[in-house]
Amino acid sequence: MNYHQYHPIDVVNGPGTRCTLFVSGCVHQCKGCYNQSTQRLDSGHLFTQELADQIIADLMDTRIKRRGLSLSGGDPMHPANVADVLRLVKRVKRECPNKDIWLWTGYELNELDDHQKQLLPYIDTLIDGKFEQDNYDPCLKWRGSSNQIIHTFSDL
Ligand code: SF4
Repeated sequence: MNYHQYHPIDVVNGPGTRCTLFVSGCVHQCKGCYNQSTQRLDSGHLFTQELADQIIADLMDTRIKRRGLSLSGGDPMHPANVADVLRLVKRVKRECPNKDIWLWTGYELNELDDHQKQLLPYIDTLIDGKFEQDNYDPCLKWRGSSNQIIHTFSDL
């Protein structure tokens, strides 16, 4: 998997202070996409074991407390990203069990195939659906357009 950016301290993408990873690769081609440069799977940089280790260390950092990990992009549920994202979210839940995981995908929850659904047990909050310019609303929290749904799977 490739990624575009990693923000070790982020207060914009999800609640509280978080670590945020923007992965590469997205098939949805939404009109008005705010992250067009992330759409190609081979854009950005290789996601390495070292970066996975860094994310775990940042989540466990006691000097700047992080509430959890946000996964965006691109699309973390792009079929080519699922295996690496699954490895990461399993590791976060095993090694940082009190941290929440938020994930943004352009797929709708009911469109996910069995491969993609493997991620769901590890996700606390899923924001689904394409960005639709006609439904753009700058007042919305955590999403760009009103068709996107915030699914809360746990109280973490
Ligand atoms: S799902 Fe997100 S990254 Fe993908 S095209 Fe739509 S807005 Fe852009």
